[in-house]
Amino acid sequence: MKLQSLTGMRDLFEEDLKLFQKIEKSAQEILDFYGFRKIETPILEMSELFERGSGQSSEIVQKQMFSFRSKGGDFLSLRPDYTPSIMRAYFQHGMDVLPKPVNLWYSGSCFRYEKPQAGRYRQFYQLGIEVLGSESWITDTQVVYLFFKILETIGLNNLIIKINTIGDSQCRPYYKKTLSEYLRRRRNSLCADCKNRLKLNPLRVLDCKEEKCQVIKKEAPQLLNHLCGDCHKHFEKFLEGLDELSLPYNLDPYLVRGLDYYTRTVFEIFKENSEENIKQEINEKEEKEVNETKKQEEKETQIALGGGGRYDNLAKLFGWKETPAVGFGFGLDRIIGLIKKTEKKELKLPPVPRVFLAQVGELAKKKCLGLLEKFRKEKIRVAESLFRDSLGLQLKIADKLGVRYVLILGQKEVLEEKIIIRDMKTGKQAVVNLKKAIKEIKKPGR
Ligand code: AMP
Repeated sequence: MKLQSLTGMRDLFEEDLKLFQKIEKSAQEILDFYGFRKIETPILEMSELFERGSGQSSEIVQKQMFSFRSKGGDFLSLRPDYTPSIMRAYFQHGMDVLPKPVNLWYSGSCFRYEKPQAGRYRQFYQLGIEVLGSESWITDTQVVYLFFKILETIGLNNLIIKINTIGDSQCRPYYKKTLSEYLRRRRNSLCADCKNRLKLNPLRVLDCKEEKCQVIKKEAPQLLNHLCGDCHKHFEKFLEGLDELSLPYNLDPYLVRGLDYYTRTVFEIFKENSEENIKQEINEKEEKEVNETKKQEEKETQIALGGGGRYDNLAKLFGWKETPAVGFGFGLDRIIGLIKKTEKKELKLPPVPRVFLAQVGELAKKKCLGLLEKFRKEKIRVAESLFRDSLGLQLKIADKLGVRYVLILGQKEVLEEKIIIRDMKTGKQAVVNLKKAIKEIKKPGR
């Protein structure tokens, strides 16, 4: 058997890691201003935290957790989602006595045993915020605003936010019953998963992407028409807030999100598949590629870049003090995928080193070790191949890299404290004082 990384888990290289850092930095700048403090929780937690937090009927708990029994006999799980861990940390560290709201943000990996496909991995990275202690609609508006603002700041455009409300413990049970009755009458036409969802939580049927269930969904009663007075007011004010900030949103009465802990406001953000985008692509691409582009665009617009919502009941589920809260999380993998796609058009090559440091003989090799550090301090980009002995090969490499000047150090040069500078363009060589090598390279016109 070949030793390889696990299905759905990837090695990340510098190109990706730099983008991760860039996104984190932009997010941090915005979040610092709004009074958020960073938190990191352990990747491994007691399984119960997620089972009770996310809900037994959730897809995550039913199918997607990486769980095992530790040597000590504890049932543990890799974090599939940050929110329950953050709520645990909030109470464990007495943050509930801090002035409200408590604003926290995080960035790290989550694990879900899902079928890997484009934009879906088993280890993926989320960046998100949680605001604990505010029940006001205005916090929902601010959270959605931050969600949008961070993505906009990192250069994503044509974003659309899908919004819905799923009510609270006042109005949702009644709606669930109405929906359940409607679905039960059409049970035979539902997909196998939805037949099961119907038993566990009928709301989850609204989340189904199967074609046969779409037809049934379209006619289903909508929670928007069954909201209690308080939920209605909350949602109305929240939407007014979004309008005030001119945020681009659509109402999606079927958006329920996959987790049981949500109450009232839920939202997800997508890249909008506008006609204008497609037209622009058509101008840029050959006709035969257009259909592919369209297909790809459609696929991409179907996967959410991030999502979130209000979860006023989560703390209560654990028997902790009632704590209204709202937050979001977005998938860094998906965002990076989008950025890379845009940046490909203007592919940046890595900078060519200013000099190549070549050496011949053991004494020269050793001397180069210290010399490299001097170049670093002077911020001069140097390439080298210290492990090689052949000067010819070293010059070939320098040529391949496109380096203009090669510094050559041999036994004789070390003893005389000199170094050779070779101009790769003209082939001319000059011997200079070793101590003056850096000054020589820095000379204007070189
Ligand atoms: P969720 O709370 O499940 O909606 O997750 C929030 C965001 O995390 C999603 O909108 C995705 O961008 C990202 N995400 C969730 N699951 C995965 C996955 N398996 N692979 C990559 N990204 C994911």
